[in-house]
Amino acid sequence: MRVELVNTGTELLLGDTINTNAAWIGQRLAALGIQVARQTIVPDGAIIRTAIAEAAQRSDVVLVSGGLGPTNDDLTRESTAELLKLPMALNDGVMAHLNEYFAKRGKPVSEATKRQAMVPTGASVMPNPFGTAPGLYFPATLGAPLSWNAHIFLLPGPPRELKPMIENEVEPRLREWLPDGASRRVLYLKVTGVGESDIVEAVEKQLEAIAGLDLGYCIRGGDVDVRLAGPQSAVDAGAAIVRAAFSDCITSEDRRIIEEVVVQLLTERGEWLSTAESCTGGTIASRITDVSGSSRVFGHGWVTYANEAKQQHLGVPAELFEKHGAVSEEVARAMAEGALKHSGADHALSVTGIAGPTGGTAEKPVGTVWIALASKNTETWTLKRFYPGARDRFKLLTSQAALDLLRRRLSGIARRL
Ligand code: AMP
Ligand code: MG
Repeated sequence: MRVELVNTGTELLLGDTINTNAAWIGQRLAALGIQVARQTIVPDGAIIRTAIAEAAQRSDVVLVSGGLGPTNDDLTRESTAELLKLPMALNDGVMAHLNEYFAKRGKPVSEATKRQAMVPTGASVMPNPFGTAPGLYFPATLGAPLSWNAHIFLLPGPPRELKPMIENEVEPRLREWLPDGASRRVLYLKVTGVGESDIVEAVEKQLEAIAGLDLGYCIRGGDVDVRLAGPQSAVDAGAAIVRAAFSDCITSEDRRIIEEVVVQLLTERGEWLSTAESCTGGTIASRITDVSGSSRVFGHGWVTYANEAKQQHLGVPAELFEKHGAVSEEVARAMAEGALKHSGADHALSVTGIAGPTGGTAEKPVGTVWIALASKNTETWTLKRFYPGARDRFKLLTSQAALDLLRRRLSGIARRL
């Protein structure tokens, strides 16, 4: 089944609005085993009609977003009606929804708003509980007298209105139309701590030998997402190869990011985490607290940027700085063990490093970082890493390595030195 998107709105082309609808729809359809074949962005205006016609000629399904609102530049409804030569009529159901929507807000229904109740004959209304403009579905048969035979869906632009409509109105129909057994599977293996080129070198030849397997890599947030798509059997065979090569580095197979994995592992064990961060300035704590439910596993964290702060709040002995320097295994260890003691948590992560661009030496160049993980009744783990580059990248990769160290301890996996 070939599906195309047409995203309308001048603001998308000006770069004022990012086309998040396309990304979200792409992910939702991929989960159904459908890869969006093409995506077109057009400005508001007459070109919408052309774009829909072109997409319809190539496709089984066209999903159009935006331009259903009450303003003059919202032309999608009228353009589609013209294209399919369908007369418009006032729809009582939509009008009732609009009356109710505005009555609730104590506002009159304006003439402009009433345009949204005009429905082309033969199109079905898709309710919009989160806004005024309903969606519209044009069955493929309506286009039959023309030179194509595509189902056309008109969807609202605002993401909070579009998403439920896709889930409740579009996806059930797509599922019905998908041929039995023809469905593609997509699996994402999130690999942490290994470079893309190392993954390619280790598994690509074997993966390319699997018939029907569509392979992709995407670097995001310090991880490599290995995407395996195709028939179930091909995806299973591919996954087995990647797992065999990198089992301990696969942090999730369901797109969850490492902080989500770590919070879940801590929650399952009923354990608490603390953090003592220097060069990451709170990035680890920030990532942990991005996860809903993190208050059950995270209570204390410190940002101890200055040596004095490391001494005062974490009890790092002053002589360690003189003897080994602030960026050292010994200081990282003392920070983690101090945080463990002062927080009463079960685990404490610490990081101390040189983010740069200044402050490097020959012995400890910019990008050098020490990470430590102290846990109750267990030996403290330390890890040295080297991430030269921009400060934001350094912070991201350092926090990633720290979270991975904890993931490994919580999962009973050895650390990668
Ligand atoms: P519209 O329905 O065309 O009037 O769009 C209303 C609002 O929805 C716009 O001002 C944007 O903020 C948002 N919007 C429209 N299209 C998209 C899109 N493709 N991705 C994300 N937001 C969008
Ligand atoms: Mg618009």
